Amino acid sequence: MKKVILITGASSGMGKETAKTLIQEGHSVYTAARRIDQMQDLKALGGFPVPMDVTNIEDIRSVVDLIIKKEGKIDVLWNNAGYGLYGSVEDVALDEARRQLEVNVIGMAAVTQVVVPYMRKAKAGTIINTSSMGGKMYFPMGAWYHASKHAVEGLSDCLRLELKPFNIKVVVLEPGFIATEFGHVLVDGISKYATKSAYSAMINKIIEGTKKAAEKGGSSSPSVIANTVSKIVSSKKPKTR
Ligand code: NDP
Repeated sequence: MKKVILITGASSGMGKETAKTLIQEGHSVYTAARRIDQMQDLKALGGFPVPMDVTNIEDIRSVVDLIIKKEGKIDVLWNNAGYGLYGSVEDVALDEARRQLEVNVIGMAAVTQVVVPYMRKAKAGTIINTSSMGGKMYFPMGAWYHASKHAVEGLSDCLRLELKPFNIKVVVLEPGFIATEFGHVLVDGISKYATKSAYSAMINKIIEGTKKAAEKGGSSSPSVIANTVSKIVSSKKPKTR
């Protein structure tokens, strides 16, 4: 059955790859991100790119209004926008730490707050939140990213209980290493703090390890995520914890 789907963070990586799959499966797919130019190929395939910074509530409202006006509903929301900030707790500037939580956690909650009333009215819906294996585990130099993804886990688990009576499902994705633009942020982020940190030896070791793992092909293709999300979208009863 054709679904109306909103994906945040769809201008690259797993969001973009999954958007392609879902468009090709015949769904109405609204792809949101700041880099609208990066989504023109999705438009050519039949998708609907929309500009959205998840930290800007006006952007969020205007995208959701547009979808409701055109489609009358949103069946699936995939909160996928996010990035990784790396460095020691001692070194990472607090403004950057706030930005990490603002995008990965508050941004997710903001989009959810605007979409949920329509799903509640329809008594149906699926919300997919991208966490990470980093939402279950932790590594040195990853404090703010891990804090953000642990928060995504807690937020999603509470949301699932709150929305169950309204027949709205909440699914959490916990990917391992996937080859996307995310890896570049990881290395650049660590490098930035490596130059001044008392932990530079530890940081450089992580950078080397990350590079070696990448060379050995230690990450999966975004198509793995595309297949998973496609199954969740088409399933009447998505697997939930
Ligand atoms: P990419 O960097 O390729 O994609 C990130 C997406 O998030 C882009 O489309 C970017 O769009 C968007 N984004 C970032 N900031 C904002 C913002 N403020 N407002 C709107 N969109 C934003 O990485 P991935 O595909 O790997 O990442 C997708 C998700 O998967 C993230 O939440 C990440 O934490 C998570 N993840 C990634 C893993 C990996 O190994 N790759 C592993 C586990 C989880 P734009 O810049 O155009 O706004």
